[in-house]
Amino acid sequence: MDEIKQSYHKKNFLAGDIIFEEGAPADCAYIVETGQVEISVLLNGQSIVLGIAASGDLFGELGLINDDLRSASAQALDDAQLILIDRNMFKRKLDEADPIVTFFLRALLDRFQEVRSNLVTLKKEHEKQPAAQQRFNHNANYEADKTRTIHDIKLEANLLTALKEEEFVLYYQPITHLKKHAIQGFEALIRWQHPTRGLIPPSEFVSFSEKTGLIVPLGNWIIKEACRAQKILRNHFPDISPFISINISALQFEKPGLASTIAKIIHKYENNPEDIKLEITETLLMSNPEHASTTLHNLKKIGVKLAIDDFGTGYSSFNYLYRFPFDSLKIDKSFIDEILCNTKSAEIVRTLAHLAHNLGMTTIAEGVESPQQAARLLEYTCDFGQGNWISHPVALTDATALLAKFK
Ligand code: C2E
Ligand code: CA
Ligand code: CA
Repeated sequence: MDEIKQSYHKKNFLAGDIIFEEGAPADCAYIVETGQVEISVLLNGQSIVLGIAASGDLFGELGLINDDLRSASAQALDDAQLILIDRNMFKRKLDEADPIVTFFLRALLDRFQEVRSNLVTLKKEHEKQPAAQQRFNHNANYEADKTRTIHDIKLEANLLTALKEEEFVLYYQPITHLKKHAIQGFEALIRWQHPTRGLIPPSEFVSFSEKTGLIVPLGNWIIKEACRAQKILRNHFPDISPFISINISALQFEKPGLASTIAKIIHKYENNPEDIKLEITETLLMSNPEHASTTLHNLKKIGVKLAIDDFGTGYSSFNYLYRFPFDSLKIDKSFIDEILCNTKSAEIVRTLAHLAHNLGMTTIAEGVESPQQAARLLEYTCDFGQGNWISHPVALTDATALLAKFK
């Protein structure tokens, strides 16, 4: 897991533990997961409590933003779990931020330093208040920003833990040859097996993982796991040797070395390269077509198959179909949904299937939900169907059972 940047991690403290002391170098900020932390300063040899940080509160950020020594001390009041945000991580985020945002932050900090000494004096007068009333107070905008930021930090920390603790799992959805009515492959679809929340769908974490860069190590894990599964399925069904389709995200695609990473994994699991299919969306090709073309040709050189995913939802430029070396075209579910009731959708599917064949590609219809839809797709010479009509995505052992049933 050396690709994972050590950005957020969790640490436990016991009641009474000193988290940091005034005057010490500031190497990280903290978010309280559980427990309470007292923030205090020394004034004329007397300790003054500035506030109590409890679940969801951020503290220790001042020294980090200011690149300064700690201006207060922090001590766990009871057993506490904290998320640590380290300096390198924070610097990276600050460097990526809009210069105006950085400027505002610096201006705000300067002003804060001015009033800080007044705050300490004021706190001295209020010291006799019970601790419960000394919780941090902020305006409504601050609270909304805080809630969103802390949600994102917690999610990123939890996703990192999930990757290290191997909480992710791949499910497999059959891809069925319509004429033979036989399963010939599967699409690998990620799920998060959360220890308390149960199975979490990709809609809750895939695009977030793209935003944070976590999709790169996660994507590498997905490729390894899918290739391992292909080996298991091939050993069970050597006469079929089902293919596995793997979704590739934009960030994975843009990073140099994707083809060599995949080649190494295929070598390790002794897969036939043509049994590994990579699904790439149109939108991914649009931003840099030159780079996309080079990467796709490098992938073809190692022998894997390429599918253009969600065709019809983006720009749907026919340019992509002859310019790039795709083997299959996946027709988006939105067209299949209407294939029986909307003549225009039906005509698009029929035309796409013909066009794909004329360009030497196979077609896969996504989101097939009924035998009637499957029959119509066969009539339109579509090659494969994928959808709840055969099975929703299932765990690997169930995928093996499905193969035995539809072979
Ligand atoms: P996708 O690549 O278009 O995957 C197909 C989605 O359609 C899957 O949802 C699948 O469960 C769903 N589906 C298939 N047949 C039917 C059907 O008959 N009816 C209905 N209602 N739905 C059907 P899922 O697994 O929730 O995945 C959603 C999206 O998350 C995927 O869309 C893909 O964009 C992303 N994703 C999933 N797994 C991965 C992964 O391993 N890597 C990356 N980068 N993205 C992934
Ligand atoms: Ca897909
Ligand atoms: Ca799709």
